[in-house]
Amino acid sequence: MSTILKSYVEDRWFTPESGFADIPSAIDGRVVARASTKGLDFVAALRHAREVGGPALRALTFHERAGMLKAIAVYLNERKEELYQIAFDTGATRRDNWIDIDGGIGTLFAYASRGKKELPSERFVIEGETEPLSKAGTFVARHILTPLIGVAVHINAFNFPCWGMLEKLAPTILAGVPVITKPATATAYVAEACVRMIIESGILPKGALQFIAGSTGDLLDHLTGQDVVSFTGSADTSEKLRNHPAISRNAVRFIAERDSLNAAVLGPDAGPGTPEFDIFVKEVAREMTVKAGQKCTAIRRVLVPRAQEETVTEALKAALAKAVPGNPRLDETRMGALASRAQREAVVEAIEELRSEAEIAFGRVDIPDGEGAFFAPVLLRCDEPLKANKVHSVEAFGPVSTLMPYDTLDEAVELVKKGEGSLVASVYTYDADVADALIFGIAPYHGRVLVLDRDCAKESTGHGSPLPGLVHGGPGRAGGGEEMGGLRGVFHYMQRTALQGSPDRIAQITRRWTKGAAAPVTPEHPFKRNYEALKIGETVQTPSRTVGLEDIEHFAHFTGDKFYAHMDEEAASANPFFPGRVAHGYLILSFAAGLFVDPAPGPLLANYGLENLRFLKPVSPGDSMRVRLTVKDKRAARSPEYGEVRWDVEVFNQNDETVARYDLLTMSARTAA
Ligand code: NDP
Repeated sequence: MSTILKSYVEDRWFTPESGFADIPSAIDGRVVARASTKGLDFVAALRHAREVGGPALRALTFHERAGMLKAIAVYLNERKEELYQIAFDTGATRRDNWIDIDGGIGTLFAYASRGKKELPSERFVIEGETEPLSKAGTFVARHILTPLIGVAVHINAFNFPCWGMLEKLAPTILAGVPVITKPATATAYVAEACVRMIIESGILPKGALQFIAGSTGDLLDHLTGQDVVSFTGSADTSEKLRNHPAISRNAVRFIAERDSLNAAVLGPDAGPGTPEFDIFVKEVAREMTVKAGQKCTAIRRVLVPRAQEETVTEALKAALAKAVPGNPRLDETRMGALASRAQREAVVEAIEELRSEAEIAFGRVDIPDGEGAFFAPVLLRCDEPLKANKVHSVEAFGPVSTLMPYDTLDEAVELVKKGEGSLVASVYTYDADVADALIFGIAPYHGRVLVLDRDCAKESTGHGSPLPGLVHGGPGRAGGGEEMGGLRGVFHYMQRTALQGSPDRIAQITRRWTKGAAAPVTPEHPFKRNYEALKIGETVQTPSRTVGLEDIEHFAHFTGDKFYAHMDEEAASANPFFPGRVAHGYLILSFAAGLFVDPAPGPLLANYGLENLRFLKPVSPGDSMRVRLTVKDKRAARSPEYGEVRWDVEVFNQNDETVARYDLLTMSARTAA
């Protein structure tokens, strides 16, 4: 019996009554679900996101939002077997579903962890350092990122109903923006099951997530410049949406991931018998058959040196012959079905188009009997790919690739470029010059490039795997969008603002001290104060001490660092940077600590690093030095026990010239501890 898919809007499940689209199983064609959004109030959904979800999310810090992502990941992880069972009907095998379901949950975990580690316990982000804008230092600027106050509309493709949804959801929720997510109808029943779990977990605040099973109605007509549309699917739909009047009129941010004819290039050095040759054959065959080739990152164009064409063809034929499509529910099945019979027809049509420029080297296009959407791999071969166009532009979204020979490396680069922009390319070589020529030739056309060789193949995540920390997207035909890429993906849902003003005002607004802002010296040493009691700007001004030649020599002998600049007057004088022998940079750091440290046990727990260290002027024997230590930033309460404090440290000489500057990072105990 087929299920009627429900949408989740205004924190209620909406059950449609008419206007259904039937969703057939990819295995046997029976209708597994029916979807419709007839009668759904899209304006109310947008209002709910903007008025309820947005404010609730923005009231939370990045760390609180990261905590929710982690809790959702744990919740889904405990229930994923249910998703696996539902997803078999999409034609996906257990291994395919692992990419989709575990991959999606993994992306939630990854963003939870990045949010906690790389973002402050705040509601905004400071980007970069202070920009000095005036001679006297009374006018400065700093870039900040704040969440957009609109809604993120996510429109997903059919091939990854879980991962595609979750890899967009994670960075958006972390940014503090509510989501309306719409899966492709063909596999919407998997996405619905996943959303159902997220909703029943009760982890997200009201209005943070809404779900549309079916068409988007008039949703897009009401988008504003505070909204974002993030789309994955075909170039045709992407073009239609990008040109939607509301989207173009209101400059709605539009992130697109679409058709991509990704290439794999075998280097001229990687002949038969080399590890790279074997890695190449294995990777191409795998990319053609995983998800039955329905991956936006799958290898569509296989570029080989002309001399290797025959050998590669034979090796690929042997590998592909083993990929017999079968029932995805069975463990032994290596390749499942396409998502639907309609999809299979589209693949066959695309192959027919490609055949005007290429011939079939392996496989067949006649469709097997039965109600399922099974389709065996097809390898095409194009003899004159430089003169061809379709093999570089028509994406057969199934287990289909085209082999193309090249004569020179320049030609290989030209061929890759004919794809007019792709998500990913992979290069198989063990030759540094070949790698260099190919990478710098093709990098501007790709969001990701993988160089595979014997040294990394074993641990490589492969050509086809987008990773949360890496950019996923590509220029031109691939849509021009970028997703994930660590925090970059979060920032797509935030507005970058250059904030100008006086150092005091900028420091107060951003909760980060900047040079020129008030730096009151406190009667009590700040090392005696716990995390909560510390105030941004509180400062220690130390007395000064002299650095003698005996200090430098003592340090050199004690540490073993007898570099000539510290120990040999003649050699040091010949160095254009030094007036003669100078103090070690590390000696300056050590003396600085000796000057500013308060030695008694107290709430300061540990020094865990320095950042932005610069030695700006040499310290000669006889010079003196003093230190200003200021609480710069305490925006990261890492645990109930302690918080991270950043101190601005500046070391001056007897002429008040800065000789060194850095950020000192410490952990300080919290009141709770
Ligand atoms: P579509 O572009 O048809 O659909 C993608 C998404 O857009 C679906 O959720 C779809 O919803 C939605 N959509 C379609 N029309 C509109 C509209 N007018 N307004 C709002 N939303 C709309 O792509 P498919 O997923 O069907 O895949 C078709 C082809 O796209 C594939 O054969 C392949 O070539 C390519 N593709 C490329 C990918 C890539 O990243 N490179 C990934 C997946 C597909 P609904 O399903 O309800 O129509």
